[in-house]
Amino acid sequence: MTQTIHTNVLVIGAGPGGYVAAIRAGQLGLETVIVEADRPGGACLNRGCIPSKALIHAAGEFAAMTESLGPGRMGITLSAPPVLDLAGTMAWKDGIVRKLNTGVTALLKKARVTQLHGRAVFSDAKTCTVETDKGTVTVHAQNVVLATGARPVELPVLPFGGDVISSTEALALDRLPQTLAIVGAGYIGLELGIAFRKLGAEVTVVEAQSSILPLYDTELTAPVAKWLSKHGVTLHLSAKAKGLGAKGGLDIVTAAGEAVNLAADKILVTVGRRPVTDTFGLEAMGVDMDGAFIAIDDRMRTSMHGVYAIGDVTGEPMLAHRASAQGERVAEIIAGHDRRFDPVAIPAVCFTEPEIVSVGLSPSEAVARGYETVVGQFPWQANGRALSMGAGDGFVRVVAARADHRLLGVQAVGAHVSELSAVFVTALEMGAVLEDITGIIQAHPTLSEGFHEASLSALGHALHI
Ligand code: FAD
Repeated sequence: MTQTIHTNVLVIGAGPGGYVAAIRAGQLGLETVIVEADRPGGACLNRGCIPSKALIHAAGEFAAMTESLGPGRMGITLSAPPVLDLAGTMAWKDGIVRKLNTGVTALLKKARVTQLHGRAVFSDAKTCTVETDKGTVTVHAQNVVLATGARPVELPVLPFGGDVISSTEALALDRLPQTLAIVGAGYIGLELGIAFRKLGAEVTVVEAQSSILPLYDTELTAPVAKWLSKHGVTLHLSAKAKGLGAKGGLDIVTAAGEAVNLAADKILVTVGRRPVTDTFGLEAMGVDMDGAFIAIDDRMRTSMHGVYAIGDVTGEPMLAHRASAQGERVAEIIAGHDRRFDPVAIPAVCFTEPEIVSVGLSPSEAVARGYETVVGQFPWQANGRALSMGAGDGFVRVVAARADHRLLGVQAVGAHVSELSAVFVTALEMGAVLEDITGIIQAHPTLSEGFHEASLSALGHALHI
């Protein structure tokens, strides 16, 4: 059966960008259709943010139990080691994903969005066909929102398949690899590498650049490097993966130019993500590109009238919360509201051990932009809450303009600091100066007090250091 639908808004992709755009469009009373080839929630919910954080949490629980063997920790001892059933862990993780899949579907329904399951292929900028299990549906739309996301980059020397896996397969393993080689020390590789190390795998990381997490300064990444070294994760920096070894494992060339074969039951390649632009007839839509990404302006408009794009398919930072924020705004723009996507800062978090959060400019980025800065730093060693969680490693740091004390950036590394992203980004978006932060009373004992202290330190009068 062939069906034809005319709609005001057509959203392609139900990831955190697309489904949020569709819900908001529905709330605003716009007739809306969303097309998704896979399960609702996109990469983030099905193969990314949520399953990885579930695995990371489970690995943390397992590691805490393992550390309680022998003399124990915090006066707690276990007499027998915990037993890992990775298939059981993955089933628990899948349950969380399923619950959220159902939630997204229900929210779309509540917003009266028509949901089509299938791959959309465009014949012109405003018309696509979708092969659904109930037949072919042709959709004509006044406005199109492209939210097709990104997929893992494949290395020519290590094509995916067999024991060479991407983050998607790593998050679906039902047996723990004894040896795991990870190519790429960005946040996805290290988050997963640390989780698998906590679960008991021997982990080796190979990175072409000279540092881990190359997007962050070394002061912030040092506690993570310390954890890796302390827990026996081997790092090969300035090293290149060459391909599968003749007798298995991973062949690499080290920084010293030495050819080495690494033992590896699985080789996890996490060298980046590439926008999905090649599977839905983009060439028929007359849309300009910005390199590999779809080019947009600050209203998410592409070069084709009435065609918008949001999320990973439009560039960095490829993060779920950027996609969602663009999704919310694009629906309002289509509804005629005067909105732009012009954030002061987008928080970035690494759920490594310990965690890193960065909002706005680092000290060196601020200097590179021509600011004269004041920087204040406060160590978790001097924070009661951090110590009471057994987590004294790391610090919080504020960067402000010397001239008017306006906050330019805030970063932290330490246990549970991801939750501080809210207070950091709120301060930056609201244009806070150091005196605003020091004038706010933070609850005791909390990590938030560290933000207060780092700001006091930038003003030259920290109380607890
Ligand atoms: P996606 O989530 O990729 O969704 C795009 C959707 O479009 C997909 O569901 C796809 O099936 C669908 N689609 C594509 N083409 C078509 C078509 N022609 N027809 C129909 N449907 C189509 N980000 C964070 O912010 N925090 C994290 O902690 C985090 N962790 C991550 C961990 C991992 C392992 C990975 C891989 C990613 C992680 N990310 C994280 C990144 C995050 O997943 C992405 O930034 C986010 O999913 C982008 O959302 P999106 O809506 O742009 O695209």
